[in-house]
Amino acid sequence: MAIDPNILHAKLKTFFGYDAFKGDQEPIIQHLVEGGNAFVLMPTGGGKSLCYQLPALVMDGTAIVISPLIALMKNQVDAIRGFEAGEDGIAHFLNSSLSRAQVAEVREDLLNGVTKLLYVAPESLTKEENINLLKEIKISFYAVDEAHCISEWGHDFRPEYRKIRSIIEEIQPAPVIALTATATPKVQSDILKNLRIQDARVFRSSFNRPNLYYEVRDKVEPEKDIIRFIRQNPGKSGIIYCLSRKKVEELAQLLSINGIRALPYHAGLDAKTRADNQDQFLSEEVDVIVATIAFGMGIDKPDVRFVIHYDIPKSIEGYYQETGRAGRDGQEGLCITYYSYKDIQKLEKFMQGKPVAEQEIGKQLLNETVAYAESSQCRRKLLLNYFGEDYLPDNCGACDNCLHPKTRFDGREDMCLVIELIESLPEHFKLEHLANVLSGVSNAMVKSYQHDKLELFGAGKDHDVRFWSAVIHQGLILHFLEKDIENYGLIAVTDQGRKFLEKPYELLLVEDRTFSDGEDDEDDETAVPGQGGGGDPVLLAMLKDLRKDVARRHKVQPWVVFSDPALEDMSILYPLTLKEMSEKCQGVGEGKARKYGQPFVDLIGRYVEENEIERPDDFIVKSVASKSGNKVYIIQSIDRKLSLEDIASAKGLEMDELLSEIEAIVSTGTRINLNYYIEEELDEEVVEEIYDWFREEATSDSLEEAIQALGGDYEEEEIRLVRLKFLCEVAN
Ligand code: ADP
Ligand code: ZN
Repeated sequence: MAIDPNILHAKLKTFFGYDAFKGDQEPIIQHLVEGGNAFVLMPTGGGKSLCYQLPALVMDGTAIVISPLIALMKNQVDAIRGFEAGEDGIAHFLNSSLSRAQVAEVREDLLNGVTKLLYVAPESLTKEENINLLKEIKISFYAVDEAHCISEWGHDFRPEYRKIRSIIEEIQPAPVIALTATATPKVQSDILKNLRIQDARVFRSSFNRPNLYYEVRDKVEPEKDIIRFIRQNPGKSGIIYCLSRKKVEELAQLLSINGIRALPYHAGLDAKTRADNQDQFLSEEVDVIVATIAFGMGIDKPDVRFVIHYDIPKSIEGYYQETGRAGRDGQEGLCITYYSYKDIQKLEKFMQGKPVAEQEIGKQLLNETVAYAESSQCRRKLLLNYFGEDYLPDNCGACDNCLHPKTRFDGREDMCLVIELIESLPEHFKLEHLANVLSGVSNAMVKSYQHDKLELFGAGKDHDVRFWSAVIHQGLILHFLEKDIENYGLIAVTDQGRKFLEKPYELLLVEDRTFSDGEDDEDDETAVPGQGGGGDPVLLAMLKDLRKDVARRHKVQPWVVFSDPALEDMSILYPLTLKEMSEKCQGVGEGKARKYGQPFVDLIGRYVEENEIERPDDFIVKSVASKSGNKVYIIQSIDRKLSLEDIASAKGLEMDELLSEIEAIVSTGTRINLNYYIEEELDEEVVEEIYDWFREEATSDSLEEAIQALGGDYEEEEIRLVRLKFLCEVAN
């Protein structure tokens, strides 16, 4: 029986304080109240919770809400208690975190009919005692939240979710409402089947997020590109996703060193650090969070202005959820992804240890991601199509492919060839296989089906496999082709496709984009700039002359003033202020710039003006000194005058390694004071002699040169320590 809409609106106001329903909320609620099963597809933030909370409050009995997230459960229960003045036991949750006494309280409220909403984790629902309890009460309906967890084809499969139907049967039948913010047609079909609610009415809101801009960038020097991007968007909040914790740490540190307020977040950090970092992001003390996918669940910051994927995600669903955290307030949201095929190969390697069936699925999902990344079609169209929604406009105006469209060609004959091939085969095959057959690639699979004997084998050999894959993908989007839901990935022709084959018409297709192989981020982290010259030779010569003068005036060696690489950077980037100089040139800290820099920026300024030089809009990425991430620890320990032996052993380093780390720190222009240690450990005269050699004879700050000149008389460790002292006192 339907509820009078006026009453429903009144309840909306009294229980939740809202004046109107959002989207499909009202018809969904009415449908549930009338006793129907419902399937709700609504993007994050669409207002799913209300679809079961309100009916639970107005219907007879208790609604059971199955949700996988304990933390979110507690939030929701608190929120409902907050909304609904008075009654205490109106909402409860049941999971393994409750004490005996708490469980007893829940039990009592349930049996007394006070509780209208009971949140349970799927594990708790399988427990015998809970099932017995729920048999004793009247259940209004079951809500299955995050319903995509039912399907192995979703991105968050949870096996316990598959038991829900049989448990419902055991407890007592009641209507079911399944809700999710992410489901491909395959996952949707799995959900309906598994919950046995094929008769459910489907409520689907559009997943389009018109305010989000999508772009895929070639992964070449991604760090530098990211720093540039953030500098162009100062003060805006953003999230950067990486796949590994290590990368998260490294990137967060690199950004900080380059003057960006950034913090890391991943499951390997302790709970307090995680909470602190998250709070600082929410309160805008930091602009950027670099995170693994552990970050974001339940985070509701409305003004996240950009989401960057440093690594390509494992599935489009993951990608869509993560990008979905941008622009929740409807304002600007830039979603940028770095792609290289090497990353895909890495992900495939990670999967190798997993069970075969899981690998198969993982690979399919990854293939979809590759297809998305490499496509030249509208990103919005691709994404929405992936979730089973058609996006009709030709140009969305807010994705890289629409803003920079590739030339199209008339692909009607190519499409016909694809359709003919599929129609000529008695069975259905996967996309890659079809592309191989058309381009005449004879691999094991092709041979085992004897498809190399087919008339159409190699019929499209003028083009490669990539070309044919792109044509087939576009065929799917145009609904000439479809993927078999039962045997996922197998491709069939639709009626529309057959009609097209009968009477082909002009079809504008695009080839995929090509990406570079990408860099091996194991070896060449950030390109070291300035090396190998490439600067302005005239300016460089002038800078070297100036350096001699300045050195003479300060009574130091020229290299003490600025190193060669620093001068080279100046001759490339033309810094005009001391700030710019210390930001842009390696080995130049603020102190050093202040001490020696003024005549250099003056010279560069005159030179730029006289020669009408256009300065490059470029900068040097300051690299992370300490690869192992020990930098902060080392600096703090030296400040606290800990012995180097203690520092080394605390970090599991050899003395030699520790010295290398300190040298790396000092080489970026950071000043430290090692005198407490040197005075304790080294002979005063030794220190003086080595120090003098650096001041008077050294021709560079090179360690090798020093060891060659002094090694006969002194220990290497002594030389290194005094060199550090000298660099910090005189050079930096
Ligand atoms: P979802 O679960 O779909 O991500 P939520 O249920 O968390 O979305 O709701 C998203 C936001 O919308 C919440 O802040 C919620 O309070 C708000 N909201 C829900 N329904 C309404 C409504 N009818 N009017 C105004 N705000 C609403
Ligand atoms: Zn577009």
